[in-house]
Amino acid sequence: ETPADFMYLLEEDISPVFGPRNKFSHKGTFGHALLIAGSKGKMGAAQLAAKACLRSGAGLLTVHVPAKGGNILQTAFPEAMLSFDNNAEHFSSVPDSGSYSAVGIGPGLGQHMDSAAAFERLLQQKTKALVIDADAINMLASNNELIKKVPPLSILTPHPKEFDRIAGESSTSYERLLKARAFAMEHSLCIVLKGAYTAVCSPEGNVYFNCTGNPGMATAGSGDVLTGIILSLLAQGISPVTAAVSGVFLHGTAGDLAAVYRSEESMIASDMIEMLGKAFKQIR
Ligand code: AMP
Ligand code: MG
Repeated sequence: ETPADFMYLLEEDISPVFGPRNKFSHKGTFGHALLIAGSKGKMGAAQLAAKACLRSGAGLLTVHVPAKGGNILQTAFPEAMLSFDNNAEHFSSVPDSGSYSAVGIGPGLGQHMDSAAAFERLLQQKTKALVIDADAINMLASNNELIKKVPPLSILTPHPKEFDRIAGESSTSYERLLKARAFAMEHSLCIVLKGAYTAVCSPEGNVYFNCTGNPGMATAGSGDVLTGIILSLLAQGISPVTAAVSGVFLHGTAGDLAAVYRSEESMIASDMIEMLGKAFKQIR
């Protein structure tokens, strides 16, 4: 067994993940993703993650949304199927996640008490692969017992503030990095500590630094796009650590292409989704 290490990700490490598609493949070949996202006033986050997911190659996507949030999503994004929550405005009822190849939860979810209870029920279901972001991370932070119920090899995608909420404040980014690595090992999770040079910490204690991306990505909805990408790769059967490292690489590449086209100042999260096609071609 090789000892744990710190590694710098290069394009040549990532390109084999995105090989050519088999001529005889069909929708089922590329998995069925379930995205649980959105609440009143935050349906945009669900939409961004959903689009990024289908733009990253998943075969099918179902988005679980509050009942009142359905029309906006169906209209703006006809490719996605919908699962309606019993509540009109927030997440409260858990769909049966067993039939999906991967589940993503968090973007724009809100932190209603009902949602925390529903999230706990989801954690008890047998999900094949899971990515946890945003308000789902915040809900982990407000209940210490919940982290123990997160299935091993799940992916968490905190930005530094979200990570501090689950693991306590750090006085330096180096301290936070070591904490993220220890957290990943302790709970057998994959921690994607986001920012410039995003660090992916594996359950084995490896740390992979991402070299793509730019400060133009410090913009609303940027992280929701990443969640959709990683969910998509998981749904396609890519293993968690590989899905996390190749997802952040692809996300950063799309961000870099968006910055060339739009400028760092003017680019928005939707532009990164638009550039995913070019990003795939460039990496391949
Ligand atoms: P969130 O805060 O959840 O919207 O996530 C922000 C996303 O943008 C993460 O994927 C970050 O890695 C990325 N990002 C933010 N700032 C930078 C930066 N200065 N350089 C590269 N990527 C960044
Ligand atoms: Mg976020």
